[in-house]
Amino acid sequence: MSDVAANLFAIRSKIRAACLRAGRQENEVTLIAVTKTFPAERVREAFDAGQRDVGENRLQEAESKIPLLPASLRWHYIGQLQRNKVRKVLPLFSMIHSIDSLRLAQYTNEVARDLGLFPQVLLQVNHADESSKAGFSLDELRAQWQELLGLDRLEITGLMTVPPAVDDPEKARPWFATLRDLREELSLRAHAPLPYLSMGMSGDFEVAVEEGATHVRVGSAIFGSR
Ligand SMILES: *Cc1c(COP(=O)(O)O)cnc(C)c1O
Repeated sequence: MSDVAANLFAIRSKIRAACLRAGRQENEVTLIAVTKTFPAERVREAFDAGQRDVGENRLQEAESKIPLLPASLRWHYIGQLQRNKVRKVLPLFSMIHSIDSLRLAQYTNEVARDLGLFPQVLLQVNHADESSKAGFSLDELRAQWQELLGLDRLEITGLMTVPPAVDDPEKARPWFATLRDLREELSLRAHAPLPYLSMGMSGDFEVAVEEGATHVRVGSAIFGSR
């Protein structure tokens, strides 16, 4: 077994155990293998170990890998999305996790209409208001929610966050719980389910699963340090 296969196996068992602790079903959680900086051969090892969801944070890097890999991989766009990349990102990725402003959402909606697409998107929340990070603040998202819901080409299916870096994963728990509560609140206001929560990375994905993550984005714990 390759290192990648062994790491994936270990992570999937940790996700299963976290689901058990939280009384959740394992199939509620999608593991996204974050392949940024790693070459297509390493992604192929993950594919061979059964991994189907992969995440990239740069268009150019994804564009060079996607043609080299099986078409059954589902690519998730998790990085900051610049307007001038939207037209190319939409057709290549099955989900965009990083819609970080109303303006970007409106623009993506226009491009999606041009292309005849209904992309699945998540709204990125910067709930610690860290100036170094993109995303809606809690108040911004609450204030702009109706307008976001009016964007007829976007399938807004949930929220995503990258919480402040912490030394102990337990310290991330309140951030994850806050995102879950916000999801409930927005879902009630929309009278529609908001099924997805993309939260948890290599250092804290077990806590994120306990707090309700439906998508965990794990890179270094699978492929090694970057
Ligand atoms: C790189 C990255 C990850 C994965 O981080 P690891 O700590 O390597 O697991 C997750 N989410 C986003 C948005 C990233 O950019």
